[in-house]
Amino acid sequence: MTSSRFDLSGKVAIVTGGNGGIGLGMARGLADAGADIAVVGRNETKSAAAVADLRQRGVKAIAVSTDVTDMAAIAAMIDRVVKELGRIDILVNNAGMSIRKPPHELELDEWNKVIDTNLTSAFVCSKLAYPALKASGNGKVINIGSMMSIFGASFATAYAASKGGIVQYTRACANAWAPDNIQVNAILPGWIDTDLTRGARQQVSGLHERVLARTPAGRWGDIDDFAGIAVFLASPASNFVTGTAIPVDGGFSVMA
Ligand code: NDP
Repeated sequence: MTSSRFDLSGKVAIVTGGNGGIGLGMARGLADAGADIAVVGRNETKSAAAVADLRQRGVKAIAVSTDVTDMAAIAAMIDRVVKELGRIDILVNNAGMSIRKPPHELELDEWNKVIDTNLTSAFVCSKLAYPALKASGNGKVINIGSMMSIFGASFATAYAASKGGIVQYTRACANAWAPDNIQVNAILPGWIDTDLTRGARQQVSGLHERVLARTPAGRWGDIDDFAGIAVFLASPASNFVTGTAIPVDGGFSVMA
């Protein structure tokens, strides 16, 4: 009985940015729990590798090449997922990027790019997936925030604004869609070893050591650390959990 609360057999999940990093870690967890997966990203080589990985776990998986800053492309992606996989039960808004500059140096087009990729994409994907999520009868939306949803950083101008926005957007949607039995929650990752942070570590000397010292768990997070929280927030186990922002950070956000 207990395991059925976490069973995702027969469910279909969209994971934006599911072709690598944290998105792939979550997609693997959802697939291991039985969900069919649509991987959404731009890099077709990475997406093909992710789909092969997910299919090996015994589920259906498709890659839908999509730029999440393009509303028409998102609409086509949603249509294709419903046509090929039959339904949408779970939407993971994970695609994201950063441009590391202080506020006075950030250009307007750079600001717009980060906000469009990290925040507006979550709005558009959720809005367009809503009819299918409602039809599911137990829809789940998982939005990916950051420690920058809580803290500020001089280099994270638009990134922090986008990730703060993700939390408030999550709360608004949780209220709006509770009558439809759709739960909407956010995950706030700490410092995780992915392409995104590999780039940051190359640019910022001492970052690696500072993260180790500042994280009570004493290590960087791994993409596998996101499988369990994704399954919990995607499954009936979390049916009375909505509007939250759950840190998965090795204690980073509670260190004094
Ligand atoms: P990666 O760079 O490994 O993954 C980012 C993913 O987003 C890629 O799969 C990429 O796919 C996709 N993506 C980016 N832009 C677009 C776009 N315009 N259209 C479609 N897909 C896009 O980084 P992470 O795994 O680290 O990041 C995943 C999420 O986690 C992001 O929202 C990030 O902000 C957040 N996060 C990460 C932390 C960390 O320490 N790593 C900490 C806190 C939050 P493709 O290249 O194919 O387009």
